[in-house]
Amino acid sequence: MASVPRQLAVVVVLVAFGAAAKTVAAVVSGSRAILADSVTCFASLAAAGAVVYYYRASLVPPDEDHPYGHARLRYGGVLASLAFYMMAAGANVAFTLEGLRGYRVEAAAGLPWLLAGTGLYAAAVLLARSLDPVVRVYAGFTASELLETGVSLGGSLAGQYIGYMYDLAGAAAITGYILHEAYEAHRYLLRVFSDVAAPRRLYEMLRRELELRGLRLVRARLRMLDDRTCAGDAVAVPPPGMSADVADLLVDEVVEELGKRNCDVVIHVAYAERSSPRASEARRDATERTRL
Ligand SMILES: [Zn+2]
Repeated sequence: MASVPRQLAVVVVLVAFGAAAKTVAAVVSGSRAILADSVTCFASLAAAGAVVYYYRASLVPPDEDHPYGHARLRYGGVLASLAFYMMAAGANVAFTLEGLRGYRVEAAAGLPWLLAGTGLYAAAVLLARSLDPVVRVYAGFTASELLETGVSLGGSLAGQYIGYMYDLAGAAAITGYILHEAYEAHRYLLRVFSDVAAPRRLYEMLRRELELRGLRLVRARLRMLDDRTCAGDAVAVPPPGMSADVADLLVDEVVEELGKRNCDVVIHVAYAERSSPRASEARRDATERTRL
């Protein structure tokens, strides 16, 4: 854990030099495809800064103003990445449209710089493989970034030898790709913000653990706070004749079992005779019996 920030710093430095080399390649070759690639790299770099900033913020333990912890602050990085991706896409659209007027590509002049940039990027992607998935994906430290270099290289070469439209098509492809990334980031955020339900297996586990102890699960709501942690509440009915003290103890055990699976659940003990005809009232009663 302690080595992750240092590793991340190395990744960021590699990407920074990689992006700078690609920018030189874009300037000396005049290729719009390479330009789009380098703009994307800088967006990734800015995203990396935001992702790391919010990742650190998310590690702060729960406090008064964030009683469920700060885990979701991680998504601030994804949100910022989305903004940087859109900025890059906007710049690329402008460069691409402007390029429609026609231009010359000297791909060979940019080639050494492009290869140097690609090498640095490849090293960064390899190093980033052990990083946190949110950091890796939303800071753009993935193999798909190398694919962009392939597109910019192919586009610029075809642009020099066949016609600038091929180079422009490369730029458009890279722009399309970053828009796709932005769309994926948007979907990912929406999934988290919409309080998506915990996986089925956690519900099943809750039911099983209660049944093992003779209690019956009548209601459960489990939501994901982030990719790993869940929180929720449930109502359980003890068997006839079980004393409230025993039911409390057994429910405590179940809470502990779920806690081991990163699921913070509050279980209300309700009583069967009140559950069927006046379910809502039983629910209200159960809430009043809230434990903890
Ligand atoms: Zn706080």
